[in-house]
Amino acid sequence: MSATMTGAVKHSGKAVSERIFNFSAGPGCLAEEVLRQSQQDVWNIDGSGIGILEHSHRGKVFDRVLAEAEADIRAVGNVPSNFKVLFLTGGASTQNFMIPANLLPKGGTADYINTGYWAEKSIEEAKFYGTAHLAGSSKDKDHSYIPSQAELKFSASPAYVHYTSNNTIYGTEYHYVPQAPAGVPLVCDASSDIYSGPIDVSKFGLIYAGAQKNMGAAGTTVLWVRDDVIERCNKDLPSMLRYGVHAKDGSRHNTPPVFPIYVVGLVMKWIKQFEYAGAPGKKGVDAMAVYNRDKAKLVYDVLDASKFYKGHARGDSRSLMNLTFRTPSEALDEKFVKEAKAQGMDGLKGHRATGGMRASMYNAFPMEGAKALAAFMKEFERTNG
Ligand code: PMP
Repeated sequence: MSATMTGAVKHSGKAVSERIFNFSAGPGCLAEEVLRQSQQDVWNIDGSGIGILEHSHRGKVFDRVLAEAEADIRAVGNVPSNFKVLFLTGGASTQNFMIPANLLPKGGTADYINTGYWAEKSIEEAKFYGTAHLAGSSKDKDHSYIPSQAELKFSASPAYVHYTSNNTIYGTEYHYVPQAPAGVPLVCDASSDIYSGPIDVSKFGLIYAGAQKNMGAAGTTVLWVRDDVIERCNKDLPSMLRYGVHAKDGSRHNTPPVFPIYVVGLVMKWIKQFEYAGAPGKKGVDAMAVYNRDKAKLVYDVLDASKFYKGHARGDSRSLMNLTFRTPSEALDEKFVKEAKAQGMDGLKGHRATGGMRASMYNAFPMEGAKALAAFMKEFERTNG
């Protein structure tokens, strides 16, 4: 990997004509270095004469891949040693029921903050196991904001508090870590903003993230679980549902998603050495945070200066990953998406639940793409406003 790792974000959108700017909400774009290395290793990894897709999940090559992926996840996120890092399957959606299955005792209550579509999915799944108490909600304003800590009302003794740090569909993001009542594990679905900046893992009991946005390819969900949270899990469950089993077996209780884990490993190496000229002296997620802020600012500045576009998120709740906005009419939204695509910008159509536009600009999305979108938005407003 190192031979092709340069530290600068390289994207083929400009350099190679067959690639365009990919604003997809997930699976999202990956860094060129990661894609090129994957191509090579599918054919022959580590000079073994066998590709990564064909190696045994218990062989030496995969031992290395798994160990490095875990070590780099720990290094990038400064993960405390009393946390296990797990690679599971079934998407973030499986965690929505695995969490209550493990942590919500029969007849118990867990607290949830409803900030949109995916938070609602988590709440629905918890109801199979116990009571989901709504500690906060942004539903009253079409999920356009993030409730403040002062607005949260926890139940008497919740088994855990769950929230969704970035709302992929509505384009809102927490810019603080909610504080759960003392001794109550904080659980976070960080699928769409994990490692977009520094994170204090020690504040959480459990974090989970589908890999397909900021961590790699679809097919694995990464978990950071504190040891004492694993200890308190329900043991009366089928083995594949038990965090304790996956932790004991080092994510190899069954055949793990070998290739997605391998890609996560490459992405972690890419983030670890990431540097950005706009953040001199910074590296990794610290540099990434500035890079993401600068990319998003290009687009939000256009929204703020415009009477034509309307952003969905309230100013203090704006997501740096998924930027949602609309023009004055559905017909113009449609025209916007179509014309942007003709100019090499794909994936800008908003989610079916919200309409309008959504520009997803994950870690690997290049600055050039954000500049191209901002310029296109101005021109579209000039000609259609
Ligand atoms: N949570 C969030 C915040 C998401 O954005 C998504 C997927 N877009 C999910 C959960 C569901 O993830 P999966 O498709 O991996 O089950």
